[in-house]
Amino acid sequence: MTAKKINPAEYSAQTNAVRAGHNRGPEGEHGEPIFPTSSFVFENAAEAAARFSGDSPGNIYSRFTNPTVRTFEERLAAMEGGERCIGTSSGMSAILSTCLGLLKAGDHIVSSRSIFGTTVGLFGNLLPKFGIETTFVDLIDYDAWEKAITAATRLLFLETPSNPLTEIADIARLAEIAHKHDCLLVVDNCLCTPILQKPLEYGADIIIHSATKYLDGQGRCVGGAIVGSNDLLSEDIFGFLRTAGPTMSPFNAWVFLKGLETLNVRMKAHCENALLLAQWLEQHDKVEKVYYPGLVSHPQHQLAKDQQNGFGGLVSFEVRGGKEAAWNVIDSTELFSITANLGDTKSTITHAATTTHHRLTDEQRVEAGIKPELVRLSVGLEDVEDLKRDLESGLIKLS
Ligand SMILES: *Cc1c(COP(=O)(O)O)cnc(C)c1O
Repeated sequence: MTAKKINPAEYSAQTNAVRAGHNRGPEGEHGEPIFPTSSFVFENAAEAAARFSGDSPGNIYSRFTNPTVRTFEERLAAMEGGERCIGTSSGMSAILSTCLGLLKAGDHIVSSRSIFGTTVGLFGNLLPKFGIETTFVDLIDYDAWEKAITAATRLLFLETPSNPLTEIADIARLAEIAHKHDCLLVVDNCLCTPILQKPLEYGADIIIHSATKYLDGQGRCVGGAIVGSNDLLSEDIFGFLRTAGPTMSPFNAWVFLKGLETLNVRMKAHCENALLLAQWLEQHDKVEKVYYPGLVSHPQHQLAKDQQNGFGGLVSFEVRGGKEAAWNVIDSTELFSITANLGDTKSTITHAATTTHHRLTDEQRVEAGIKPELVRLSVGLEDVEDLKRDLESGLIKLS
């Protein structure tokens, strides 16, 4: 059976999600094989030498490359429209590898304040130990981004939509600001995935993924990815990874591959359920405010429509009665899983102020807009009428 590998440039993201990257082997397997091997053997001493010198491409050791991981990488790169993708052991190691691969002591990052909590910790507490400082700015205050840039700034970092308040940043505008000052724009595209948003098309230089979320989509594995040009990824970032070692395991890569195949249908179903739930919450008399980019009332609704191909699965809302009311709603649910995770087929419910954002001081929390009455939902793929009924069981008890 001859190898039959498609040229991703000829196909849409959806076709690439199902087909790209698989180089069918001599066994003629239909599904992608897993290569659980730490190392690879050579025909002879000369071939070994050629692999190590880089004269001959090919696998050496799975800390560097592995065929299953490569299939995942080629598939996700094709979906994002990037030249190269590098799989990593987690979303956080994708961010760490990007920073340590590209930056050195004395360099500076400007980052949105509204990013994943652990990323705030990495930028705010860990990287300063190595001489890399970060200035945090408001996601949609474009003047603040530009003002924060210094001669030492190398990277601008953001997530859009923000979590949990779903603010939408104009990626093209931030790319312009970044490039005007010779900086790179890094976008964590975890919440949208390439199905809903392709940051490279708007001028972003590097995309980060936590594959743990929607790419897997069923809460099985932890992993991450970096997507961008060969130029940026090959030397510095891949060089860091093969030396430091936060690489993706072949088994996890295989799980993520299977996740990518259904990503398109899952994302559309997440979006559909989330919009119906957001609309229902918005007219509910016990609900004060709903945050969802798909609502006409959302301040960046038009930008979300222009930049995204769907509004995502994250919906947040505020109830009257502060933390007690929010906890009441959370504890009354039966279907929603009480967990801080997101991007799963199973819907989850989170009290941001006391979990994902508990480390912030009261003052920082007010500044970030995380009120005690805020509840965040990651809307899954259950029947939306059952989800409404589940939330209603708590909402009905509120005064
Ligand atoms: C979860 C998450 C991360 C970190 O990913 P891990 O796989 O948990 O390391 C980074 N960014 C965003 C937006 C996330 O939601």
